[in-house]
Amino acid sequence: MTTTFLALSKVRNIGIMAHIDAGKTTTAERILFFTGVSRRIGEVHDGAAALDFLKQERDRGITITSAATTCHWTADGAEHTINLIDTPGHVDFTIEVERCLRVLDGAVTVFDGVAGVEPQSETVWRQADRYGVPRICFVNKLDRAGADFHRCVEMIRERLGAVPLVTQLPIGSEDAFEGVADLVSGQAHVWRDDRYVVVDVPSRMAEDVRRWRAALAETVAEHDEEFMELYLSGAEPSREQLQAAIRRLTVASAVTPVLCGSAFKNKGVQPLLDAVVRYLPSPLDVAADATAAPDDGAPLAALAFKIMSDRYLGRLTFVRIYSGRLVSGAPVLNSVKARKERIGKIYRVHAGDREEIASAGAGDIVAVMGLKRTTTGETLCDDAHPVILESMDFPDPVIEVA
Ligand code: GDP
Repeated sequence: MTTTFLALSKVRNIGIMAHIDAGKTTTAERILFFTGVSRRIGEVHDGAAALDFLKQERDRGITITSAATTCHWTADGAEHTINLIDTPGHVDFTIEVERCLRVLDGAVTVFDGVAGVEPQSETVWRQADRYGVPRICFVNKLDRAGADFHRCVEMIRERLGAVPLVTQLPIGSEDAFEGVADLVSGQAHVWRDDRYVVVDVPSRMAEDVRRWRAALAETVAEHDEEFMELYLSGAEPSREQLQAAIRRLTVASAVTPVLCGSAFKNKGVQPLLDAVVRYLPSPLDVAADATAAPDDGAPLAALAFKIMSDRYLGRLTFVRIYSGRLVSGAPVLNSVKARKERIGKIYRVHAGDREEIASAGAGDIVAVMGLKRTTTGETLCDDAHPVILESMDFPDPVIEVA
């Protein structure tokens, strides 16, 4: 059993939000599949092997329905831990959506590239606004007839009142949609022969890329003083400078980067993972908003946000730890009920398997066994330092998982 000390700056607690049918499930599956592949078969982003892997995971009962699934992604030379939190997609479950929004630090909003911004996308967008969740947008299904990336960007601006930041351009359209040109790095990411390859932007798009990168830099400068100085000096911003400024603005919810792809056809998914790591906040970035400091050494403060019934393990309580460490076997106080509980086994849930861990620290999301009285929305804390994290008065359905 391992005791993990996560480098908080390398953690992303994210959810995927979407209108029903926009491709949330497909996107989540592809994320788990590419992250699983990169972890288990090294850096070989091989499509055939990846599809095999996905099939195996399916056969074993992929835990895509888990309240939180942990995966890993290496971008810019550093491995990051991504806790993918399941946010229910159906409008009837808005209370559940809100409960999940409370525990995530950032989100990917998926849009159908043909339908654009749909009424339910507006509902989930407003909810995320209410909780101040920084977002990146993924315009999906660009392989479909009638898909229009730029129309969707305009709908994001007009219907959602957001400041969309076009950070990618689609390469080709509909049947001929090949992948994405990243305006920040100036590189193209295409899916060819069952694998992702990074290539030069096609020469026919060079002028478009130059123009859209200039527009991107201008919008960033309008919103970021530090970048504005650089912009006014007339120097061409480097990839690092542009990336850092986009991150600052996204974390502050001042802009929302817009990416594109076709999850179903595996296009744009790896660049989306890069963007999650590059632009969405870590638990440290959002610390100012949390009731408790994200510090392993501080007294425990954790929020139970979902209860699931696991076929093998029984009742599992998913908790987000805001500060301190959650230790297997340790007594804790449920401050809402004013009752003591004992932490049983602690698990990190991956796609297709579970890893028992001895303890977990601030910023992390894990599943806990043995909590008999704790329901969702309740705080677990140190007996000596009682604290109640933002209280939530939600029903507590128990959901069956495989
Ligand atoms: P959810 O309701 O948002 O979870 O959507 P799903 O992921 O279940 O996708 C809804 C439907 O759209 C399914 O039939 C998917 O196969 C299909 N789909 C998802 N992504 C794409 C895509 O990129 N291109 C196309 N053509 N179809 C897609």
